Amino acid sequence: MRGVHQERSIIPPDRADFIRCLAENVAEEHQTAHGTVLDAVLADSSIELIFDDFLEPFDGLLIKDSKGYRVACNLATGNTPNAPRCRFTIAHELGHYFIDEHRAVLADRLMPSMGENAIQDNLMEREADLFASHLLLPSLLIRKAFKKTGGGMKGIRQITSRFGASMKCAAIRYLGEDLVPCGLSFRAWDGSLRWKWFSRKLWLAGVRKIRDKPVIKSATERVIQKGSDARPEVVDSAAPARYVFQMGDGQNSNEIFQEEAMALGEYGVLSLFTAQKADLPRMANVLDLRYTHS
Ligand SMILES: [Zn+2]
Repeated sequence: MRGVHQERSIIPPDRADFIRCLAENVAEEHQTAHGTVLDAVLADSSIELIFDDFLEPFDGLLIKDSKGYRVACNLATGNTPNAPRCRFTIAHELGHYFIDEHRAVLADRLMPSMGENAIQDNLMEREADLFASHLLLPSLLIRKAFKKTGGGMKGIRQITSRFGASMKCAAIRYLGEDLVPCGLSFRAWDGSLRWKWFSRKLWLAGVRKIRDKPVIKSATERVIQKGSDARPEVVDSAAPARYVFQMGDGQNSNEIFQEEAMALGEYGVLSLFTAQKADLPRMANVLDLRYTHS
């Protein structure tokens, strides 16, 4: 089914912490000056890596059969060996392997990962993405790096070139650092929302949903107008929170957000929304409770 289930796809904080720890422990064991060695992670768990042109539009797949576990990468969707996109795909599939609940589901059915091209924004995919982002960019490395690069889309881009990470990977890690209230969206070229991600500060400020359609004349809409041939340059705009997010007229709805949008080739448009203020007042306690127990 197309469309984004915005409410169901938030990872509760305790669960997110658990997944971060799991990924960072694996990363620590297989770290070199050049980053996490995925081949070593695969070899340690006796997981075979295979590349092929698959007809289905998936990026990667974790397969379990009588021969054991295999990660399949789809060359047809741009998963060239060692390319940032492919490293993220492998790391994501490793998430499905290392997270016990995912491995249990795998026993019943195949789980294709749609990666940047995700149609459904479900919780397991987000958990595997979170795992992947911490496996490839562990905290120790990323904290120092973001201090040097600064934030925003510019900082995220510098991280990608420095560590050979994909934009999605670096952007998720930037939000995870929770330096400022900010959110991410990824839209296909027809404008449909494929996935979104919020920093904890933004969530606690009462923002939980992004508008289904990009705002007219916003940075995102302008990049979409240019089409999939658009150069990968950052376009920006600013607007009050209520134009960008579904949040009614409540507290924080007039806070100004900077929007930075960038084309990611044929896949769509990545947008980063950053509050002008480094901290926004929190919404009522009921929201904290909901965040904790959802
Ligand atoms: Zn997946």
